[in-house]
This record gives sequence, C-alpha cells and structure tokens, in this order.
Amino acid sequence: MVISRGGFQVRNHTLVKVTTDEGITGLGEGIGNAKLVAAILNAQMCNQVIGLDPFNIEFIRSKLIDSEVYFERKGSAICAASAIEMACWDIKGKKLGVPVYQLLGGRYQDRLKAYASDIYWEEDPIKMAKNAERIVDAGFKVVKAHIGYKSPAEDLIRVKRIREAIGENIGLMIDLNGGYSAFDACHAARLWETYNLTWLEEPINPNHLDALKDLRSKISIPIAAGENEFRIFGFKDLFENKAVDIAMPDIGRVGGLQETKNICVLADAYGIQVSPHNFSSGVLLAATLHLMASTPNTTLLEVDTSKNAVYQELLVEPLEFNDGYFTVPEGPGLGVEISPEILKKYQVTSF
Ligand SMILES: [Mg+2]
Repeated sequence: MVISRGGFQVRNHTLVKVTTDEGITGLGEGIGNAKLVAAILNAQMCNQVIGLDPFNIEFIRSKLIDSEVYFERKGSAICAASAIEMACWDIKGKKLGVPVYQLLGGRYQDRLKAYASDIYWEEDPIKMAKNAERIVDAGFKVVKAHIGYKSPAEDLIRVKRIREAIGENIGLMIDLNGGYSAFDACHAARLWETYNLTWLEEPINPNHLDALKDLRSKISIPIAAGENEFRIFGFKDLFENKAVDIAMPDIGRVGGLQETKNICVLADAYGIQVSPHNFSSGVLLAATLHLMASTPNTTLLEVDTSKNAVYQELLVEPLEFNDGYFTVPEGPGLGVEISPEILKKYQVTSF
C-alpha cells in the first residue's frame, strides 16, 4: 500500500486483554508503533494496574497518564495507557450488563454513516478509479483516497479519474498523510478544488501548526487533521489556532475513550465536528462505534476495507454493515470478542 510518505507491507497492532479477579475480561488497543507500545505495557503499565478497580477509570487514567506527565506528555506511553483504559470500559460494561455507549452518555445515534479509507496511491490512475468503484459497489457512499505521492499537478489526474468513476453523488476525501509542504498543499487544494472534496486530510507535517492555520485560511476545501495528536491539550492547540474543520482523534492514541469524549466536548465548544481516526483492528472499530453512538458532534466513521485479517475477521461476530452504515453493537461492554483461532494465527509474541 502506498501513501504520500512511502509504502508499507506489514501492519502491526497492539491489543490488550485485562482480566479481573472475577474472571471478566476487557479488550483494548493502543495505536502507534506496536513494538514500543507493547514494550511500555510489558515493562511498566500492566504491573501498575494490577489490583486496581477497573470501575475507577478516572483514577486509572490519572495513575497511568497524569502521574507520568513529567516525562511522558505524548507518544507511545499515551497509546499504551489508551489500551488499558479502553479495556476498563469493556469490563465495566460487561459487569453492569450494558453496552459502553450507555456509559458514555447513552445513545444519540444507532447507526453510523461509514466511509471506506482504502484507495491507495497507484502509478496507474485507472487502478485507483477501479478500486473506488469496487468500494462504492460494496455499499459505501463516501470514499477516501491516499494521494500526494507525486506532485499536485501529477496527482491531479488521480483525483479526476476517481471522481469520474464514482460520480457526483459519492463523497470523496483526499488524505495527504502529511506528505506535502505547505506550498504544495496550497497548490494542490487550488488545483483539485473543482472535484467537490469533502475534506483534505493531514495536508502537511502535523508539527507545522502555524502553516496549517495559514493554509486553512487560503483554501476552500475543509481541512481534517489530528490522528497524530495526543490528549485534549493537543486538540486545544488545533482548535485555538483555527487549524482544522474536522478533528480526528484516535481513541487508541489520545488517551482512551474518556479523553476522546472530552476532546469531542471541547470541539463542540468551537463548533467543530469530530470524525475519529479508526484504522486498526476490530477492537478499535468497536470502541469508535460506541464513542460516536453517544456523541452528537461526530460524523463519518472511518472503515478499513483493505481485508486486514485482524479487522472484522478477528471478531467472533463481525460488526453489522448495511448500505453504507455500521450498526452499534448492543452486547455488554464493547460488544465484541476476539476469535481464538485468528488470534493464534496472527499473534506475535516477540518482534
Ligand atoms: Mg489519515
């Protein structure tokens, strides 16, 4: 798979299973460099929560994140803490016999419009167009393409071919994965703006906040960003600087479900919509469904349709998808269990 910053062949995921003294198990996932996240969990964080009450999620968050803030404000430690925090919600829901969305504020919406995040850059634009057609044929009403491997002028043909293939009634986003300079991103937005793009995602390096703010003021396509950001403080910077139209926190990276909920509330105060980043295993997919189901200012569920074996195949019961919408699971906790066979097949015990 090729994106603006290069290609990748292998995907790694860090899943945790927390078991209580009553035998209840909770699933969680940390999103980041799997090798580092797993090392932090194994070396420290798993031991830190032994003996704690998984109902006391704020206390556990504080112990794992706030007490370490002097050294670990962002990065893999926050991803590791996110995984344990997510698992606590799963445990709490199972023990109380309610789905996690009930614990997060109750149901605001029970099915979520999804977009397929699965058109990767190809040398042949026709291949990208055919891939877009395949996704639309599968029922998606919105698709996202990863472009920006070549210059804005060279990649114009790819935007054009995809739009021609899917027609005007299907939503289309472009994800640049932070691969362009601010200069090129501005050029690209002006060249591509006639193709009715829903948003332009991560146009530039996520560290260049001032440039992102400047870019947003110059172009007409809405900007989405935040999948590389951590905690509510990172999003406060994005919002205060008027740098994004759509915020994209990843539950497994920002600090967990409560942190993401807090980010959504903050976004709402700025009138900003949230489309959580969701490109990992079926566990993160389930957590994202519960978050979005309970949060009014969320929009468009990101879905990986690239046949990743640890996505729907990982789950004992795949999550329900119909006519472009995912249904929120009603079982207790996150409402998903991992297939032992698939876990055994793909589990890596050392890197
Ligand atoms: Mg992205």
